[in-house]
Amino acid sequence: MSNVSTAEFGAPDFDAIVVGAGPAGAAAALELARAGRKVCLVERGPFPGSKNMYGGVVYGRILDTLLPNWWEEAPVQRWVTRRQTMILTETAATTLDVRNEAWGRPPYNGATAYRPDFDSWLAQKAVDAGAVLVCSTTVTGLLRKDGLADGPVVGVRTDRPDGDLTAKVVIACDGVNSFLAKEAGLYPEVDPANYTVGVKETIALPREVIDERFGVRGDHGVDIEILGCTGDIPGGGFVYTNTDTVAVGLVLSLPALAKGELRPEQLLARLKAHPAVAPLVEGGDVKEYSAHVIPEAGFDMMPELIGDGILVAGDAAAMCLAAGIWLEGVNFAIGSGAAAGRAAARAVQRNDTSAAGLEGYRSRLESSFVLADHRRLRDAPHLVMGELAQQKMPRIVNGVMEDLFTVTNPDPKPRLRAVVRKQMKRHGVKWRDAVKDGLRAARTFG
Ligand SMILES: Cc1cc2nc3c(=O)[nH]c(=O)nc-3n(C[C@H](O)[C@H](O)[C@H](O)COP(=O)(O)OP(=O)(O)OC[C@H]3O[C@@H](n4cnc5c(N)ncnc54)[C@H](O)[C@@H]3O)c2cc1C
Repeated sequence: MSNVSTAEFGAPDFDAIVVGAGPAGAAAALELARAGRKVCLVERGPFPGSKNMYGGVVYGRILDTLLPNWWEEAPVQRWVTRRQTMILTETAATTLDVRNEAWGRPPYNGATAYRPDFDSWLAQKAVDAGAVLVCSTTVTGLLRKDGLADGPVVGVRTDRPDGDLTAKVVIACDGVNSFLAKEAGLYPEVDPANYTVGVKETIALPREVIDERFGVRGDHGVDIEILGCTGDIPGGGFVYTNTDTVAVGLVLSLPALAKGELRPEQLLARLKAHPAVAPLVEGGDVKEYSAHVIPEAGFDMMPELIGDGILVAGDAAAMCLAAGIWLEGVNFAIGSGAAAGRAAARAVQRNDTSAAGLEGYRSRLESSFVLADHRRLRDAPHLVMGELAQQKMPRIVNGVMEDLFTVTNPDPKPRLRAVVRKQMKRHGVKWRDAVKDGLRAARTFG
């Protein structure tokens, strides 16, 4: 790397520097390299994905255009052919169970994958296209033109002794809490209420035991999203099957967790002991425990996406979709990273990497699922994390199911309407509030 001071800034080392070799960064670097741009992908870990954790499912449709027939070589664990949404109380569970064999054939739908495998594979695609990948290197700050505090971004500082890196444009793909976006002044304020923390155990079990317990065969797998499993703390849970491990985890509101008495590992132990979950995971060896922050509030917490000489993509721009029945971040990271890469390549070609010259990024995002989904579902995180969905709905749903399926002879069977009314009253939910939230949910999800 060259040692270029901001005052001496002349011909830059690269057309573009992409910070972070997660899915967003790899996709950005891939598109820049394909457009013939000189691009450097900087990663603090020893290899892409080495520092990255998530629940475990990649939704690969966004790869169809980037890497046609990606499924023939992507390092997946299992293809998800069964999706469940589980609603729990301390002792009961009601589950919506969806199976679809078509999801187990090309072009597939979702797959469990290990991040070190998946991120390395995707980053290698960028390298194959011509990107320079620099690992074990942490970006420590931004370089500004002429050293001016609010001058255009012209590169990055790294923790390497041999200096800084200069470029016409920097793409911040450094994940949640992006300090680069903050340093660029693109995040006006950081509200802890917008964040959750995800914790996960990876539990080893023999492959045939997983097949048996989860009711799948071959390379098919299961994705279970769980509501009502986090006590007083707003959040949710998940269980995903890999080939010979099961991922079980929780997503927990940060401020509530800080105020609460239970630690994440205690809450996770409680989930693993639940009668609906214990038979799936018991007897396995915990291979790994990991934790990571999630930008939960979606559209409402997004920073400015564009500055002079800088773009922000993926979790760095809060583009993870955490909306109850969906927890999708990798596809949004790839979609936004690719859009940033294309917009940057175009701006470099036109020799205008000012904020105005980079505006193409916004229009690309606006016309894709990335901002369309986030805009439409902007209320979803608030609804899902609200008291009705978190505390009351799980009790009402399980109470109604208990009343419906408990045989009370010699009394006659209760009417559904009466059962619902009884459970709502018991849990202090007024029809007026239920209808209000129902309409809000219908507007959001409908
Ligand atoms: C518990 C949990 C469960 C989840 N489950 C799912 C799921 O099942 N499916 C799904 O699609 N999404 C899931 N997500 C969300 C998903 O993990 C993220 O949305 C996704 O990883 C975002 O990708 P990214 O490339 O933007 O950021 P990241 O994957 O976080 O990558 C950022 C990269 O930048 C590097 N980096 C950071 N700072 C620097 C620096 N200063 N210098 C150099 N490099 C740096 C990091 O090492 C990392 O490689 C989950 C997240 C969590 C926490």
